[in-house]
Parts: sequence; C-alpha cells; structure tokens
Amino acid sequence: MAKRCVIAAFPPSMKVLCDMRQITDLSQLAQWQAEFACSTQPLAFVPTMGNLHAGHLALLAEAQALNPRPRTLVSIFVNPLQFNDAADLARYPRTLDDDLAQLRHAGTDAVFVPPVDALLPARDGGVRIDPGALAQGWEGAARAGHFTGMATIVAKLFHLIRPQFALFGEKDIQQLIIVQSMVRDLNFPVNILAVPTQRARDGLALSSRNRFLSDTERALAPQIYAQLTASAEAIIRGEAADLVLHRARAQLTSAGFIVDYFSLCDAAQLQPMPHFSGDAILLVAAQLGAVRLIDNLRISP
Ligand code: AMP
Repeated sequence: MAKRCVIAAFPPSMKVLCDMRQITDLSQLAQWQAEFACSTQPLAFVPTMGNLHAGHLALLAEAQALNPRPRTLVSIFVNPLQFNDAADLARYPRTLDDDLAQLRHAGTDAVFVPPVDALLPARDGGVRIDPGALAQGWEGAARAGHFTGMATIVAKLFHLIRPQFALFGEKDIQQLIIVQSMVRDLNFPVNILAVPTQRARDGLALSSRNRFLSDTERALAPQIYAQLTASAEAIIRGEAADLVLHRARAQLTSAGFIVDYFSLCDAAQLQPMPHFSGDAILLVAAQLGAVRLIDNLRISP
C-alpha cells in the first residue's frame, strides 16, 4: 500500500513515465481507485462515446489545466440507453485503437472502456433517472428517452468513478444543463465544468457524426453556424426574434437542410423565449442527408 501512495505522489511531470491505465471492468476500476485512496490529488472525469476528435481533447486539456493538476480519467462508452434508433446505435463510429492512441498522446492517466453488460446489467426495466422538464423539448422531443438514458449512465459513472470534476461540452448544451441540474437536485459531490464548443475553421462544430457527411454536405454544413452568428447579431441589434428565426429556418431549408428547430430559449429552463430578454441560447437541429446536426450559441443583452 505504501508503494502505491508513492506512485500517486509523483509530480505531474513524472506522469510521462507511466503509461495510460486501460480499465475494462468494474473490479479494475476499483483497484485503480484503491491505488490512489491516500492521494489528495483530485480526479477529473471526461465521459465520451469515443471516436475522439479535438472537441473531446479540449475537455481533457481543460481538465489537465486545472490547478492543482488532477488525475484524469476518460470513459469511452457508446451508451445504448440514449439511442432510440437501433440503426443509429449500430452505425455509431467505434474507433477504439485510434481513441486510445490519442488519449495516450494527450497524457491521460486512465481510460475506462466498460463492456455494455458492466454498466447495464438489467437490460429491460430497471431504475432510470428522470431529468424532468429540461429534457422535454428540443433533443428530448426528437429522441424519446435520450436524456433519461444519458442521465442514468452519467449518474452511474459518477458513482463508480467519484470524480471531483467532470467536464462536458457546450456543444451538447441541453445535455450539459441537464447534468448540472441532476448534480444540483441529487447532491452529487462533483463540480461540472463546461467547455466551449470546438469548431472547424469554417465554423462547423466538431462532431463524431460529421464523418457521415458527403463532400457536398460537408461544404454546406458550416451554414448552420453562419446562421447562428447572423441571427445572434440581428437579435442583439434589436430585430424581432421571430422574424430572425423564421429567416434563418428559410435560408437553411433552401440550402437543403431539413430544419427540426431553430429557436431562441432562455438559458436556465430552456423554454422558448418569444422576445429576447436576458441570457438566451439559440438552438438548432437540422438534418443534412442522413446526418442530424445540432449546434447552439449563447447570447446575452
Ligand atoms: P460524445 O462523445 O459525443 O458523447 O461527447 C462527449 C463529450 O464531448 C460531451 O460532453 C460533448 O458535449 C463533448 N463534445 C463533443 N463535441 C464537442 C465539441 N465540438 N466541442 C466541445 N465539446 C464537445
């Protein structure tokens, strides 16, 4: 036990000497936790579904930049509970070797890659977290059960990993706000840190789903962010929000998108905001070919 504590007390610069720990089941996770039981170094957790890109790595970098520098654990788990479409789940990109190489290169301390059975022993029924009203609209309306599945697995991961910090991207703003509310309402002892959306140079929000865009669709996709920024400017200038939103929807539609929503909502309850007042978020979901793209932009007066 004493030797294990010495390992935990190494300064961060010595971490390069240690390889990333790959954890694939709950007993290995418990073992890793036990090795650090007497360390005061905090633990920062980044939950992902893999197929990692610079957006995910920004979450990790933000964790590593905390002072004092925490241990970092990234989970890779394609959560079946948050998919309401079996075909979407089946085709979700799984690139474990490449993900591990990226995480190792980025200096991650540990990666947790549990099999589905480890996190979902009760396939049918079982206890679920109901995220409440925040999960009713937007992505919740489009993907039945999505946020219940997400919150249930995030809650399990928090219990198993017991991090002091957990990092989530603003790219999935409704998810972030639901997790913040779950942590507050259920008194989870974890600090949720939000990381700004990472974008390609042309503005497209990085996403694992972008790989499914054809070249033509990829060239069109940045119009989503262009409409977000143009709409934000118009609303802040004082144009009526409903007219601005209508124009943005029409322009995306004529460019070839099937717009699910392009709306303004308040940043606390995610309720539609007919007239711009106070902290707000522009939310968009639009289908381009077979790919559903989501994005958002916060605006304040
Ligand atoms: P996912 O693997 O898609 O479930 O995403 C894992 C985490 O990475 C979530 O907190 C996402 O919000 C975050 N994330 C995904 N894409 C981006 C991005 N482009 N910028 C910032 N965070 C992101």
